[in-house]
Amino acid sequence: MSMNMPQKMQEEVEKRRTFAIISHPDAGKTTLTEKLLLFGGAIRLAGTVKGRKASKHATSDWMEIEKQRGISVTSSVMQFDYDGHRVNILDTPGHQDFSEDTYRTLTAADSAVMLIDSAKGVELQTKKLFQVCRKRGIPIFTFINKMDREGQNPFELLEELEQVLGIRSYPMNWPIGSGKQFRGVYDRQQTQVELFQGDDHKMIEVRKVSGYEDPLVKEIAGEFFYDQLIQDLELLDVAGDPFDYEKVQSGELTPVFFGSAINNFGVQTFLENFLELAPIPTPRRSTQGDIDPLSEQFSGYVFKIQANMNPAHRDRIAFLRICSGKFERGMSVKHVRPGKDIKLAQPQQFLAQDRDIVEEAYPGDIIGLFDPGIFRIGDTLCQGGNYEFDELPTFSPELFSKVTVKNALKHKQFQKGIDQLTEEGTIQVFRTIGFDDMILGVVGQLQFEVLEYRMKAEYGVEVQLQRMNFQFARWIVDKDVDPAKFRINSQLVKDKKNNFVVLFESEYAMRSAMDKNPTAQFLENAP
Ligand code: GDP
Repeated sequence: MSMNMPQKMQEEVEKRRTFAIISHPDAGKTTLTEKLLLFGGAIRLAGTVKGRKASKHATSDWMEIEKQRGISVTSSVMQFDYDGHRVNILDTPGHQDFSEDTYRTLTAADSAVMLIDSAKGVELQTKKLFQVCRKRGIPIFTFINKMDREGQNPFELLEELEQVLGIRSYPMNWPIGSGKQFRGVYDRQQTQVELFQGDDHKMIEVRKVSGYEDPLVKEIAGEFFYDQLIQDLELLDVAGDPFDYEKVQSGELTPVFFGSAINNFGVQTFLENFLELAPIPTPRRSTQGDIDPLSEQFSGYVFKIQANMNPAHRDRIAFLRICSGKFERGMSVKHVRPGKDIKLAQPQQFLAQDRDIVEEAYPGDIIGLFDPGIFRIGDTLCQGGNYEFDELPTFSPELFSKVTVKNALKHKQFQKGIDQLTEEGTIQVFRTIGFDDMILGVVGQLQFEVLEYRMKAEYGVEVQLQRMNFQFARWIVDKDVDPAKFRINSQLVKDKKNNFVVLFESEYAMRSAMDKNPTAQFLENAP
């Protein structure tokens, strides 16, 4: 029996879940990803996730810097099937040093999983990544990890979500005991108890109960934990937020799950609930209104470009998020910015480190396109239209370095490299007033290292970076901008398009400048 096209499209779109895991390094993202892939039967990949971190001599051709440091500089995509769903996990760099790439990858996700270490609570990187998701209003699901260790009180953790991130929460389950005494969780939705069993807590037993008053709960939890558990659950019922599906969809309420990734505890329940609640690919905004994923016309946008995955070939891969229609290998599409028709003949999909050729793909999927240097971040590819998806956001840089070229004779190459990297969105360039010194701004330290490496490897130029004390950049909109006003703990510079930008050494310096210039506007990004 052959299905007609619209029905097939609908099925393909409805089964897709595309998400990113946001967390601070060490919270357990690699471990959780690995477990999720195992549930999806993608065992071949599971070792790869770990391997990428541990092995310094990965067989593949990831960027040299990535191999040297044993970290993932740029994000890739992992795909697996579970229970009739097609799951795409967008991998965001787990290292302390992240970049705008990390932020941009989040625009390709339809939802996010926020992973939190139960002992550490909300950490800096989680907070930054959360804010990007928040701006987009996508659903956020929380997994509180490492419950097998002594952690913070679960109420304190929820309080922290609200205080630090400003998001309300609904615990889907609740821990019974913690640390060495962690017995399991009470599942509020399914009214069942999930237990850690055996000496190594590796066996999991699920017992259906009628509610938390059920005598079985007391029997299972034991006298010691029972009173506390009942008190907690009653408090949640009385004072906690009710479950509200719409608020979950709009990212105002986060469903919270407690578990332990390394012990595979609570991961499957989490996955199943997540797949149930997480959104399917939704319409995306474009210059010609919303583009429906079910539209038969293919469309997508480039959210990331990765260069030199194989230094020998100097190739670049443009990562495209499919927004509508069906992708078929060899299809012709319009590359809207330059207004050219191109043939997508050599798309590659990234399953951890392995490259596979993709024959077809649907909205929510990510494909990697071989890029001979024609793509830019934010580019739209589409069939039968002439629209562009809303420009990707740029993020205010937080780290700044003065950059000079060591060999003045290489200045032309230097400029070419800087232009190229600016275009890719790796760095932002500023120039000082008068002296015309070049200052680079980035979101994460790693971007400076990538810059140094690539300038040398691709353009044969050695650069010298001199870190500056600035922490904030604000685009200033004012009738008459006076450089003299920005001399103390700050500096006036210009961006690529000659907009005035002030760099500040501290939040205090920034606040006082704002106070002293009440008529001026200070913007986080270029106007
Ligand atoms: P990532 O940096 O976020 O990718 O974190 P990893 O997955 O590499 O985990 C960091 C460390 O935490 C590793 O030593 C893991 O073994 C450990 N870890 C992960 N999940 C758990 C957990 O549920 N309980 C405990 N005790 N340790 C965990």
